Amino acid sequence: MKINPDKCVACGNCTYVCPVGAIYIDPATRRATVNSKECVECYACYNGLSQEHLNPTFVRSLRKVFQTLRLRFDPEPDVCPTAAFAPDELVWPRTVRRAFSDPRVPHESTGVHGRGTEEVKTNDVSGRVKAGEVGFTIEFGRPGVGVWFRDLQTMCWALARAGVSFEKRNPVTSLMSDVTTGTIREDVLNEKVLSAIIEIKVPVERTEEIIRLVWDVEKQIDTVVALGVGARCDDQGEDNVVAPILERLGYHPQRAKTNIGLGRVTA
Ligand code: SF4
Ligand code: SF4
Repeated sequence: MKINPDKCVACGNCTYVCPVGAIYIDPATRRATVNSKECVECYACYNGLSQEHLNPTFVRSLRKVFQTLRLRFDPEPDVCPTAAFAPDELVWPRTVRRAFSDPRVPHESTGVHGRGTEEVKTNDVSGRVKAGEVGFTIEFGRPGVGVWFRDLQTMCWALARAGVSFEKRNPVTSLMSDVTTGTIREDVLNEKVLSAIIEIKVPVERTEEIIRLVWDVEKQIDTVVALGVGARCDDQGEDNVVAPILERLGYHPQRAKTNIGLGRVTA
């Protein structure tokens, strides 16, 4: 994302909208500026603020007049008064940022919007996590921190060394050049995204081992990591296998999402 300095009147509205704090008012130019290294191309600034088309020279003059009277002229907080945003024509590998950061962009690898993962939400149809297995979603970067692909790489290598199975229909997996070693394509490693999810599954007996591995590796990674666990219930709708392991490890498991088997493949 870019901001047209000829149009920006430095009202600062957009600085509150950017989820990763990539927009700042440059004191030298007195214009809002995007730190392109940190920008994850989520388009929250561009789509989140109404674009008004006031004349920049007029707005600047008005602000100056108000300033001399020790008053402030500020536009409504949800507008960019001069439509100053100028989205870049994104090219590979920067397109990866947008695919993982703007929830309205369908991910090329899966066709699913946003981060492009369905996790275990559709397990009653996909049957991805079977009895005796546990599925993990390891989520990086939320809220408002973001994650670099080079940090995802650290986790993927560690998980691959532990012999886990990466979910095939997952955007992070789709960017691996070698799924057996968990190696992500080199050209995306310096891309930053708002968040990304690694999806794996292992036999239930390995639950504790994998959680401890994630705990270890996350210490080397400069972002937030959230762990989701998916397991199948027994015939009574209970899970008495994975939940006790989580409790032993200090978690207080709550059911976040439950598939009740209403989803059916019809065609
Ligand atoms: S909202 Fe628009 S005019 Fe205001 S600082 Fe941001 S880019 Fe500039
Ligand atoms: S596109 Fe997103 S990350 Fe980039 S400057 Fe706008 S709000 Fe911030």
